Amino acid sequence: MAKIKITFPDGSKKEYAKGASPLDIAKSISDGLARSVIVAKFNGKMVDLDRPLQENGELVLLKPSESEGLDVLRHSCAHLLAHAVKRLYPDALPTLGPPVEHGFYYDFDKLSITNDDLPRIEAEMRKIAKEHVKAERIEHKDKAEALKIYAKNPYKVEMIKGFDEGSSSYRHGDFQDLCRGPHVPNSSVYEKAGFKLDKIAGAYWRGKSENTMLTRIYGLCFATKKELAEFLRLREEAEQRDHRKLGKEHELLMFHEYSPGSPFFLFKGAVLYNELLAFVREEYAKRGYNEVITPLVYDKALWETSGHWEHYREDMFHLEIDGREFSLKPMNCPSHCLIYKNSAKSYRDLPIRIADFAPLHRNELKGVLAGLTRVRKFSQDDSHTFCAEEQLEEEVIGLLDYVKYVYEKVFHFDYSLVLSTRPEKFMGDKKLWDKAENLLAKTLEKQKISFTINEGDGAFYGPKIDIRIKDALGREWQLATIQLDFQLPLRFGLEYEGSDGQRHTPIMIHKAILGSLERFIGILIEHYAAKFPLWLSPVQARIITIADRHKQYADDVAKAFRMKGLRVDVDARGETTNKKVREAQLDQVNYILVVGDKELADGMVNVRTRDGKVHGTKKYVDLADELVAEAKARK
Ligand SMILES: [Zn+2]
Ligand SMILES: [Zn+2]
Repeated sequence: MAKIKITFPDGSKKEYAKGASPLDIAKSISDGLARSVIVAKFNGKMVDLDRPLQENGELVLLKPSESEGLDVLRHSCAHLLAHAVKRLYPDALPTLGPPVEHGFYYDFDKLSITNDDLPRIEAEMRKIAKEHVKAERIEHKDKAEALKIYAKNPYKVEMIKGFDEGSSSYRHGDFQDLCRGPHVPNSSVYEKAGFKLDKIAGAYWRGKSENTMLTRIYGLCFATKKELAEFLRLREEAEQRDHRKLGKEHELLMFHEYSPGSPFFLFKGAVLYNELLAFVREEYAKRGYNEVITPLVYDKALWETSGHWEHYREDMFHLEIDGREFSLKPMNCPSHCLIYKNSAKSYRDLPIRIADFAPLHRNELKGVLAGLTRVRKFSQDDSHTFCAEEQLEEEVIGLLDYVKYVYEKVFHFDYSLVLSTRPEKFMGDKKLWDKAENLLAKTLEKQKISFTINEGDGAFYGPKIDIRIKDALGREWQLATIQLDFQLPLRFGLEYEGSDGQRHTPIMIHKAILGSLERFIGILIEHYAAKFPLWLSPVQARIITIADRHKQYADDVAKAFRMKGLRVDVDARGETTNKKVREAQLDQVNYILVVGDKELADGMVNVRTRDGKVHGTKKYVDLADELVAEAKARK
């Protein structure tokens, strides 16, 4: 009997009878393995588990927990959906149904349903799972054969006509669908997997608005029921924490149709904003940055020099004044080049670190605007360092220390860095690129900061480091960026006199640590679920009276706290103390201070925290000092 040699991912090799299927091979290893694999990859090509293998090759057996396995699980789940739909709505015409992030969708014509119908369809899918329906691959002899089978479905007909190679179908009992495969071997797989129909939407055939509007059913699908439950929990939590929702409930921000994509920070939101600015300014003072205040509107000549006119014009807002063309600045870099050029520079002046919180405007499409995450008006903790080549290492060390301090020590985010290197289309000296890339990588290693390399993903003007953080819900955000720029200084003709008496071009470093302050605040609101640490909190303490006769004392305590720079308010309403405490907790006030006869007599307050803990009475003057210290430490 002819043999084939199979190589496994660990490098081990074994002989099998020619024609053995991946499932046969899995069984020969263990029954457990055979039960858990759903598909295989043979010589780099995805194949069904029952495909007879005819030649030597590398075999990977895939479980739903592996990403390629999960894709097949999700893909097959779309067919399971179509199967259920056809049983319940025989006139429906299945069109296309690919796997997507978190699950799959399938588009149908002649299917008129609402979200209320989804539980019934899902129940039918579970029924099919219980029936243990086998998947059977059918190769079509030619186009004519396939066209005959799908003659009643114009969408499948259109697809078949468009195929270059032969086509195939999969039969699942009483349901057959056009597909290249592979599929999971049996619907029983879905007894273990976690799936759920999510919602319906309208979608045009092939995404073109001149075509028929189809009914799209979205489904979620995960390897296990547990993973699905965890996904649903996190999604629910994310909805609860949505910064637009919390921003409204906690009176932090608002939007108005008269200025789309441009957030209004209300009194409490402005506190957050200004506390972040104060924090950045403190760091600037320690780290040798100098802040400037710059115009927002510039003649088009500036953008021609910077290159924005050529590459970025459509994303900018333009105005005409006195017959001249002006634009609102979308970034600070060009204006900082003008500042650099304002006076002659020598090597003794470098490095120069220019910081700017100027509002920036970008003409984002109206359709993509979303809360604080996609806006038209924002500010960054933006700065530009101009330095000599030999100062680059020290600058990069300083910047990475800054990143580490902010994300590790202050915000306690999990974060990782990505180093993006020279793209195919780059400008400047290749040697300088290599040198800079090596320097960035070496410095990251020295600082013991974990990073990955994104080969060829740098900007055309220089390599960059992007910082990604993970929030409380495990979602990733890209925030900070450190970009070297060898080009803009050339475009603006920036120079300094070196110690050798010669003219040199400085290197420019663009950096933003928090990035867009608007976006950062949106992330913070969701990360903390509006339970801000003391230093950021809009209301740090609330003084609650037990009876009307305590109001004067409450006002005196509040005044003493305010004199120390703390943000406090007084609740002297005629409501019960319990109700007032409860409301203060819901408002996420950090410290709740109740005052009655005893406290009044002794110069005390009864201290609670928003988590419901009662900490007993304390002299209010002492407490004020403690809170000042806690806020200052930014814990
Ligand atoms: Zn398929
Ligand atoms: Zn810049």
